[in-house]
Amino acid sequence: MIDRATLVDYCNALLDSAAFQDYCPNGLQVEGRASISLLVTGVTASQALLDAAVAADADMLLVHHGYFWKGEPAVITGIKQRRLKTLLSNELNLLAYHLPLDVHATLGNNAQLAQLMGWSISGGLEPDNPRSVGLYGELARSMSGSELAADLARVLQREPLHIAGSDRPIKRVAWCTGAAQGYIDKAIALGADAFVTGEISEPTVHAARENGIHFFSAGHHATERYGVRALGEHLASHFGIEHRFIDMDNPV
Ligand SMILES: [Zn+2]
Repeated sequence: MIDRATLVDYCNALLDSAAFQDYCPNGLQVEGRASISLLVTGVTASQALLDAAVAADADMLLVHHGYFWKGEPAVITGIKQRRLKTLLSNELNLLAYHLPLDVHATLGNNAQLAQLMGWSISGGLEPDNPRSVGLYGELARSMSGSELAADLARVLQREPLHIAGSDRPIKRVAWCTGAAQGYIDKAIALGADAFVTGEISEPTVHAARENGIHFFSAGHHATERYGVRALGEHLASHFGIEHRFIDMDNPV
């Protein structure tokens, strides 16, 4: 068992969360019970995940997608009321890290995706940004677009959408987990043969075809399962608490 404040302070420091300009507050978002023995992690603090955490008698829920996003309505009605009521009436702490959990050099979503896929990391997708969210690297051996698609499907357990803007073999790959289809230009600027992210928009198809790059939409949820799970495992071993990752499937 560990007290909440110690765990939260440790996480904030580990992820350097104060250094980020983000679209939501990072760290403790909703305060619950003061001590933690069971930590549940998941990608998004949806009602289904909250209910699963309550059923498991979790003391804290740690997610990548929490609440209080910039521009969202401030009033507490509808799904927001039900979610907050679930947290508050069960004294369940909600801890959330968005960009800090994308960027962390080992536990981050992007580093974890690289590790799972066996990609080496050469640098950031934004070379001038020390907190670049995406990364790029070289494959150990070059492969075709359909080989990389098959690799993604096997590792992420989800078929990616592959836009074959080129038929050239892939050696340099750039990636950014989540909804980073707008970063395709950064991948092109780095001379990447392929760009992998979670989502796709209509203009992304044209950008891929007209710039001659392979583009893979591999799932927002599927590419962002691994950071929060890795952080949960790290916290469990660091503090000697129990951890359970609960995957609520999302096809997007
Ligand atoms: Zn995301």
